[in-house]
Amino acid sequence: MLLTITTTHTPATDLGYLLHKHPDRCQSFRLSFGDAHVVYPEMSPERTTVALLLEVDPVALVRGKHREQSSLLGSYVNDRPFVASSFLSVALAQIFGTAMAGRCKDRPELVAQPLPLVARIEALPVRASEDFVRRIFEPLGYTVAITRRPLDDHFPEWGESPYFTVELSATIRLSELLTHLYVLIPVFDNAKHYFVGDDELEKLLSNGAGWLADHPEKETITRRYLRHRSSLYREALARLVEEEAVEETALSDDSSEAEPPQVTSHDSQPRETDSLHQQRHDAVVEILRKSGARTVVDLGCGDGRLIKQLLKERQFENITGMDVSFRSLEIANRKLRIDRLPSFQSQRLRLLHGSLTYRDDRLANFDAAAVVEVVEHLDPPRLAAFEKVLFEFARPKTIVLTTPNREYNVKWETLPAGQFRHSDHRFEWTRQEFEDWANRVAGRYGYSVRFLPIGSVDEIVGAPSQMGVFNRD
Ligand code: SAH
Repeated sequence: MLLTITTTHTPATDLGYLLHKHPDRCQSFRLSFGDAHVVYPEMSPERTTVALLLEVDPVALVRGKHREQSSLLGSYVNDRPFVASSFLSVALAQIFGTAMAGRCKDRPELVAQPLPLVARIEALPVRASEDFVRRIFEPLGYTVAITRRPLDDHFPEWGESPYFTVELSATIRLSELLTHLYVLIPVFDNAKHYFVGDDELEKLLSNGAGWLADHPEKETITRRYLRHRSSLYREALARLVEEEAVEETALSDDSSEAEPPQVTSHDSQPRETDSLHQQRHDAVVEILRKSGARTVVDLGCGDGRLIKQLLKERQFENITGMDVSFRSLEIANRKLRIDRLPSFQSQRLRLLHGSLTYRDDRLANFDAAAVVEVVEHLDPPRLAAFEKVLFEFARPKTIVLTTPNREYNVKWETLPAGQFRHSDHRFEWTRQEFEDWANRVAGRYGYSVRFLPIGSVDEIVGAPSQMGVFNRD
């Protein structure tokens, strides 16, 4: 198995510094699966090439393994010694690890410098089309040259092999090239992966940092790198999507509604010690705990942040989240890591897709409901339907409902007068409007209600958020 890296940077011999491998010497390393050798087949100030040669020992690989794992002959006679596979990645990390991490004690300035580099992989096993190779490397800025190998040079009629010689050229930092090779070479090889363990996920994510999240083939890369281990794959993807979508999520995933900075002039304004949203959730959890509820439904649960907090309280035996936004539920599912929770935890938890403005039998029989910063997202003509769904049909013993206090908006520095805190808010109530609505609904459906402020209370405009606690009479 042969990988070469060539540079035409001047002086090209700098490659030796970057790789921490002296160009004058041939060095050999014993790895767990065979031997690796580093040599420089060409070296001049104009052009220097380093070669990493791997001698994979298939016999050593099978030693000590259970025989039923694969056919015996296949274990001994296979393409491992010749093709670029996960062994090459392991070798890269072990032999060029310092360069891969972007460290160079003697010449630190070289590390940060994009250099003209060409990596040549002699035999890349590609059980897909040539186009697949391009789709993987080209988005990273490489010019890709591919030659497909015949099965046997002497018998062209036998047709083509699944092995490609691939040359990648780019002006790029050496650490980036090595990292790309480390992550991407195993992606091509469908054979059993040499190194999939739980820490592979962390390796993938740390080596993929800064480029994998934006890669158009990130799903394929991740799935193949993790050898189709679905749980690891899902987690990786979730974390990559998070990395990519921080901004997007902040905009479209309502639950992360950022509170605009407060006016803090002359520090007369008490600063919020915690985010307002966290204070809200803390207040809601406290009320739910005191209510003695054992089953709770979080209506308009968004990304599941409240649910996460509720899960920590053993008192709640059944915690259900519902949201009209499927995307929010997907985010919640991911953030709560439902598929990785121990079963005693996941059994307590359920996510439902549904709308609060339609009667839904699944909402019956809960001790308590939380409706945190949701009501202001409903169209006013649908409010009456929501009231019926919650207070008449679902009818939990306790309902905790929070909503912004519009009066407080004058204190948000960046909020133009007359605007709401979030683009999807259909209205925002003053304290009086909220209390009028809540008193009317409570009276109509046989509840009593009390009101609590959330966040620091201003003498004139009150607190940023308000909470109504309804108890069925
Ligand atoms: N309660 C969460 C999210 C608040 S953002 C929290 O405290 O973080 C408002 C949420 O209400 C969004 O997730 C939105 O999708 C949801 N929502 C809006 N209209 C809804 C409806 N008709 N039925 C159910 N959920 C709704």
